[in-house]
Amino acid sequence: MNKRIDIPAALRDFARVFASAGYSCYFVGGAVRDRLLGLPVNDWDVATDARPEDVQRLFRSVIPTGIQHGTVTVRWKGLSVETTTFRVDGQYLDGRRPEAVKFTADLVEDLSRRDFTINGMAADPASGEIIDPHGGLDDLSAGLVRAIGDPAIRFSEDGLRPLRAIRFAARFGFSIDEATFAAIPATIARFRMVSAERVRDELTKILLSARPAEAIGMLDESGLLPEILPELSACKGARQGGPHLFDVFGHLLASCAAVPADTVLRLAALLHDTGKPSRRIELPDGSITFYGHDEESARLAEAALKRLKYPNAVVSEVAVLIRHHMFDYSESWTDAAVRRFVARVGFEHLRPLALLRLADSSGMGHGPADPRSVLPLLGRVDDLRSKDQAFGICDLAVGGEDLAGIGWPRGPSMGRALAELLEAVLDDPELNTKERLLDIASRIKSKHVHE
Ligand code: ATP
Ligand code: MG
Repeated sequence: MNKRIDIPAALRDFARVFASAGYSCYFVGGAVRDRLLGLPVNDWDVATDARPEDVQRLFRSVIPTGIQHGTVTVRWKGLSVETTTFRVDGQYLDGRRPEAVKFTADLVEDLSRRDFTINGMAADPASGEIIDPHGGLDDLSAGLVRAIGDPAIRFSEDGLRPLRAIRFAARFGFSIDEATFAAIPATIARFRMVSAERVRDELTKILLSARPAEAIGMLDESGLLPEILPELSACKGARQGGPHLFDVFGHLLASCAAVPADTVLRLAALLHDTGKPSRRIELPDGSITFYGHDEESARLAEAALKRLKYPNAVVSEVAVLIRHHMFDYSESWTDAAVRRFVARVGFEHLRPLALLRLADSSGMGHGPADPRSVLPLLGRVDDLRSKDQAFGICDLAVGGEDLAGIGWPRGPSMGRALAELLEAVLDDPELNTKERLLDIASRIKSKHVHE
C-alpha cells in the first residue's frame, strides 16, 4: 500500500496558512483512508494544534460547528474543511506553546482516540506522507476493520463503534478483525445507551452501502440486530412456501439488496414482510398463507422507524409502500384498473412501489426479476396522464363549491359524494365534465334524500 497520498493543491494551500502562522496541521481520518483506497474524497478533516479561536483569526469564513469539541468548519476555495484541535494538555492551556516534538505526540494521541486503524492515519500536508502509528496501512491492504487498542474498552467508551465497524465493512467489502468482532456481544449494554438518532444515521449508511444484506447478517451474528430491529430478527426461521427459497428473514435481506440505494426503498424492502411471522397460517394441505401481512408489516415498520427517529416523511412513505406492495400487475389490467390503482396508492408512490415489487420478486431466490413484469405499468400511467385523465378528487371537473351550488350540504357527506364521483370517473373518464358530474351529483343527492 502507498505510503503517501496526493493532496489537492487547494488543500495544500489551506495547510500552508497554518504553517506560516506557526501551527501544525494534518489531514486525518476518512479522507486519508478513502484517498489511499483511490476513492473520491469530499470531506477533508484536519487536526491541528491551533485552537478554534486561532483558526477563526486565520480564515475569513469559519463556522463554529462543534466548538465545544474544538471543531470549526472553514470555508476555503469552495471546500468545507472540518478543523479540530488536538486534545490539548495542561501545559498548552497555560498558553505556552508546546515544542515541536509535542506536536507529534499530540497527533499520535489524536489518532489513538479514533475508532479503527483504517480511520487512524494522518497525512502530512506538504509531502502527503502517511503517519500510521496503528498499522492502518496494513489493515487497509488486508481489508480489515480493526479497533485501535483493546476493542472491549473502545466499545465501552462509545457504544456506537460496533455499528460503525459493520458500516465500514459493508461499505468497503472488508472483514471485521476477529477480536474486534468478538468484543461486540459483551458491550451491548453500552450500545443501548446510544441515542436513536446516532443509530439511525449509521443504519441508514449501512443500508445505502453496496452490501446491505451482508451487513444485516453481521448485525444478526453480533447480537445487535434485536437491539435495533427486533421485528426483523423475529423473521428468522419463518419458513414460507410456494416459490420462496428463503425464510422471511433471508427474503427481506435479499429484497433489500435488490432495490436501488435509496433510504426509503431500502427500508421498505427490508421491512416489507415483517408482519408475516404473526400472520402465518399453515393450512391442512400443508400450504402457508400470510393473510393481512401487508397491513401488519406496514404497522410494524411504522413503529420501528418512529422508534429510530426517522423523519415523518420517511416513516409515512415507507408505510405506504409496504401497505401496497402486494399487487400483481399484468398487461391484462384494464385502463380503469390502472386508474383505480393510481387513485389508491398515489402518483408519487408508483415508481418506488414498482421497484419494491420487483425487488420482492428478485428476493425469492430465483435470480433477478424481469423488469418487464412491472415497469410497463409506469408507462401506461404516463400515457393516461398525458390524456389528462383524473386519478384523484382534485382532478375532478367539479369541487365542493359546485356541489354547494346545487344545494349539497357542506360536511362529510360532501367528501363522500366527491369520492363517489371519482369512482364513476375512474371507470369512465368521459364523465369528467362539470355538466355530467353535476348531473350525477344531483341523482346521488336525491338518492341520499330518499334514504
Ligand atoms: P465518512 O466517509 O462516512 O464520513 P469518516 O471516516 O469520515 O467516514 P466520520 O464519521 O465522518 O467518518 O468521522 C471522521 C473520523 O473521526 C473517522 O475517520 C474517525 O477517525 C473519527 N471518528 C468518528 N466517529 C468516531 C467514534 N465514534 N469514535 C472514534 N472515532 C471516531
Ligand atoms: Mg467524514
